[in-house]
Amino acid sequence: MSVKMKKSGIVRKSDELCRIVIPKEIRDKLEIKDKGYVIMFQQGKEIIVKKYDETCAFCGKKTGLIEFKDRFVCKKCVKELKEKFKN
Ligand SMILES: [Zn+2]
Repeated sequence: MSVKMKKSGIVRKSDELCRIVIPKEIRDKLEIKDKGYVIMFQQGKEIIVKKYDETCAFCGKKTGLIEFKDRFVCKKCVKELKEKFKN
């Protein structure tokens, strides 16, 4: 995280389940959709929240995706997997 970002940090109070809202200006800038995915990492005493790109877990394709167990798989890869486990 840059020094500039730390200085302009946005203070938010979490709710009873420790949920916070990502400020609209950040969501808009990063094109995070409503009910879209983000990915979080703990780094020492910091929490890094990144936009989670919805891409096929196998080939990286961004269209024709099916959501499965919080991951995305494209229809082509699903078809290939079905073929592989046919027997
Ligand atoms: Zn794929």
